[in-house]
Amino acid sequence: TAGQVPEWLARLNDPQREAVLTTEGPVLMLAGAGTGKTAALTHRMAHLIRERMAWPSEILCVTFTNKAAREMRHRVGQLIGDAVEGMPFLGTFHSICAKMLRRHAELAGLQSNYTIIDTDDQLRLIKQLIRDQDLDEKRWPPKQLAGLIDGWKNRGLNPGELEPIDNEAYANGKGQQMYALYQARLKALNACDFGDLLLHMLNIFRQHRDILEQYQTRFKYVLVDEYQDTNAVQYLWLRLIAQNRKNICVVGDDDQSIYSWRGAEVANILRFEKDFPGAKVIRLEQNYRSTPQILAAASGLIAANSQRLGKTLWTQINAGEKVRVIGVWDAPEEARRVGEEIERLESEGADLEQVAILVRAQYQTREFEDRFIQIGLNYRIIGGFRFYERAEIRDALAYLRVIAQPADDLAFERIYNQPKRGLGAKALEKMYQHARRRQMPLAAAALELADSDELAARARRTIADLMGDFLRWRELSEQVTPSELLRTVLEESGYDDMLKADRSAESAGRSENLTELARAMEEYETLGDFLEHVSLVMDNEAASDGEKITIMTMHGAKGLEFNHVFLPGWEEGVFPSQRSLDEGGLASLEEERRLAYVAITRARRRCTILHAANRRIYGQWTSSIPSRFVEELPEDTVEVETTLTGGASMWRANWSESEDPFAHVSTSRPERSQQRGPGWQRALATGYDNKPKRLAEPGRSAASFAAKPRSDVAIGARVFHDKFGYGTVMGQDGNKLEIEFEKSGTKRVIDSFVQTAD
Ligand code: ATP
Ligand code: MG
Repeated sequence: TAGQVPEWLARLNDPQREAVLTTEGPVLMLAGAGTGKTAALTHRMAHLIRERMAWPSEILCVTFTNKAAREMRHRVGQLIGDAVEGMPFLGTFHSICAKMLRRHAELAGLQSNYTIIDTDDQLRLIKQLIRDQDLDEKRWPPKQLAGLIDGWKNRGLNPGELEPIDNEAYANGKGQQMYALYQARLKALNACDFGDLLLHMLNIFRQHRDILEQYQTRFKYVLVDEYQDTNAVQYLWLRLIAQNRKNICVVGDDDQSIYSWRGAEVANILRFEKDFPGAKVIRLEQNYRSTPQILAAASGLIAANSQRLGKTLWTQINAGEKVRVIGVWDAPEEARRVGEEIERLESEGADLEQVAILVRAQYQTREFEDRFIQIGLNYRIIGGFRFYERAEIRDALAYLRVIAQPADDLAFERIYNQPKRGLGAKALEKMYQHARRRQMPLAAAALELADSDELAARARRTIADLMGDFLRWRELSEQVTPSELLRTVLEESGYDDMLKADRSAESAGRSENLTELARAMEEYETLGDFLEHVSLVMDNEAASDGEKITIMTMHGAKGLEFNHVFLPGWEEGVFPSQRSLDEGGLASLEEERRLAYVAITRARRRCTILHAANRRIYGQWTSSIPSRFVEELPEDTVEVETTLTGGASMWRANWSESEDPFAHVSTSRPERSQQRGPGWQRALATGYDNKPKRLAEPGRSAASFAAKPRSDVAIGARVFHDKFGYGTVMGQDGNKLEIEFEKSGTKRVIDSFVQTAD
């Protein structure tokens, strides 16, 4: 009967229930973390379906991440059973638009089997365009253009719709033209990028009323979670779809807006009431997630922001512990401490799946990974690669491996043209061919080719230079510490420059990761020691199912909850990030503070914040200051603990590494060993014994690899060469032959590339 609440809705509080039952007309649910916004949305969907107000396929429900979509599907499934299978339009903006675009591809100039290209392909394409236009890649980096194009797409702008200022942003007014060329090229490839998924659908809706009307009719109800992080194109797309029926329910929290760097506009929340007049605004204030201490800490912190709508939060949960703030000496101690805490939780019977470490930047995970592998604690990294799997780390390791072990073909192949040196697939093919025929390492084959006419002159010079570099680095590796070696290599190889030239947001993260790698190496005396450590860490990858703790970024943790949350690195320059401090604006600092709010409010039972007094950067102890966010936590909500005694941190903070009186007591430094470990490391020892110095000396380079000259192509023999044709051997120097070719004159070639012609 009317007024009676079905039992399955009884669990919700009044405002939540109102959000569920107000099915007609626009609804804006604006509420703080953990107040059950997502729960209300889930129940609303179940309600619509159970009450037959809509078929599952008539509901459009947008979540922020795929993980959130899966979670939502699961929860709706618990309420309505198998009917959830029939919800094709529950997903992220991208997944939903991709589905729609398949049906209307031709209207965007595509075929329905179009491909969605990833960022790598996107960059490759943009690079070609830049080259075609004779632009200087260094001055106008492809990444920059890619970033601009993404930004324009996020704002829903087609090439013809740019403002003059946008157009000026690239190559002195070529922005628009490049954008148009890029779009045309994508079409020719029957492809689109991520941003296109939304932009194409927006365009189609705008240009084809009939199609828009189809969707307006079909979607009886529209629901959107994490509304505060929608960007302009998403907003415009939603508005078109919902404009007709106006049954749109959006939920969000202005205090959790943390994606403005991706074009999200918190103003969308404020605009909602204007676009959908008469919208019912529902506020939820009861938090069901966290203890009062956690909540008070988070609320106190976010109160420091000026740009907010403001809201109160309360909880019925009465027991709880204060938020712990732990000051430690340095990053290794931080990792050690967190490891101990987790082991304690485990011994108390805690579920490891309910433990999370949330970091500000990806590079921070390395210290924890190393530690957890050491103590055998299972972990997973969400939304990112494990530290040593990241592309830039693998690149750096590949350089180091080739230095340590010239015969490491896989490593050599990875970096021979990274950064780009103009050595293409053809050069690689030649190297491989030669290496295979002569049973020699790729690097050695490269070196021999560099001293012959097998490759174009430019490629030969490039290879010779590169091999010269490796020779120098190899000598250097015996004189300097591993981390100094790494820094030299990154600089001299052009890798640093490559990252610098790249002005995208990710490239800063890559540089940070490499800095972190150098930091990790500081604990090792020899390159061999370090590489062995890495191989052991990598080997651990295969291990373990069972309960795992989660390591992820604060950004990725939005909407999630865990019983125990650890928040390391709360220091100025780490969090708030250096970038946000450099930018200096209030806006960027306030976004960092919102991120802190998101991070703390992920915790259900316990929240532990850590900060280290020192970070070791480039071998120098640098003292760090606790994050301003630590200071901003209301005093009565936190329990401060520090492992530092007296003024120790003061006098130790400024010592350089070599003067550090405690340097020699480091317990984490592994025993020196070069003979253990997998193949390439064993070979490492041999690599050194080979005195690879000789490797690059012209004419004698083959000696270290003992490639015997062929006996069947003596002087005077008639031979055939793939590229140069028939000729006669005029001279022999090791396995290099001087051949007078009938059509191409005298050339120096390598014997493995010729066949005897008789
Ligand atoms: P966030 O802002 O972090 O996304 P949220 O507002 O979406 O948070 P939910 O994730 O929906 O909050 O809910 C937080 C927790 O509270 C969940 O564990 C959920 O199951 C629980 N919860 C929600 N509503 C109620 C309720 N009425 N009674 C009891 N528990 C509830
Ligand atoms: Mg939520």
